[in-house]
Amino acid sequence: MAWQSTILRTASASGVGIHGGEQVALRLRPAPPGTGVVFVRTDLGIAIPARAENARDLAYATTLRLRGAEARTVEHLLAAVSGTGVTNLFVDLSGAEVPILDGSALPFVEMVRRAGVEEQRVSLPEMRVRRVVRVGDDERWIELRPGDDLAVDYQVSYDSPAVGRQRFTGAITPQLFASAIAPARTFGFLEEVAALRERGLGLGGSLENCIVVDQGRVLSGALRFPDEFVRHKVLDLIGDLALLEYPLRAHVVAHKAGHALHVAAVSELLANPEAWELVEPDRIAPLSVRPYTGEVETEAALAG
Ligand SMILES: [Zn+2]
Repeated sequence: MAWQSTILRTASASGVGIHGGEQVALRLRPAPPGTGVVFVRTDLGIAIPARAENARDLAYATTLRLRGAEARTVEHLLAAVSGTGVTNLFVDLSGAEVPILDGSALPFVEMVRRAGVEEQRVSLPEMRVRRVVRVGDDERWIELRPGDDLAVDYQVSYDSPAVGRQRFTGAITPQLFASAIAPARTFGFLEEVAALRERGLGLGGSLENCIVVDQGRVLSGALRFPDEFVRHKVLDLIGDLALLEYPLRAHVVAHKAGHALHVAAVSELLANPEAWELVEPDRIAPLSVRPYTGEVETEAALAG
């Protein structure tokens, strides 16, 4: 991916936020080179760049906050944008939270595909890790290790026998992301729902937008992958790594991590400039514009 890129046309969707429970309209708009991904609270007139310094409230989702305005639960959309190679994008939100849609990144990937991707003929530096950066403790940790491409090795372990121990390893290519990571849905444990809702979280969660686990059983129908849980953790990680603003070239090893550790790893890397370098890719890619081929308004498709 040598060039910065954006989408060709706007794409819209709407739906409920999984934590706040409010209906929110979402619109993706093309953005000029150098913009990065910027959330725009259209109800407040405040723009919030998707970068690590704006990340807050990382217990169950990643929230961006700037000048009192929030964009909540940004990680699945950011994963889709990063995973499809889009670097410059305005994300209009009519409220505080990105719609959860089906709980995965797939509806966002479909929006980007329908909108089309345009390379912008402005080079895109890659962020290469030069030495190991580690955050966490003996139980839960992340290491960023030098590597030629983005590769992930993620392990989770839950008491519930429906999840148990799962591990996913792989080099994150756009193809692998779209087919093996983007469809993996978020998940939650039924016994935690009451406590979450007391904290004002999970108010929009349902069997339609979340894998719900009760003791050893999955209540929300068939899984998309036998190891959908760890794949979703990889999805979350890719979304949080997008806060670096440059494509990361590193081997990321994560053990029982989550949003707080993902963002801690991003912040630790940025705080140690000697641990990374920006490299201009020497590949010369021709200008290519993938033409618009589908519907722009995806509301109907996403509601189905
Ligand atoms: Zn998630």
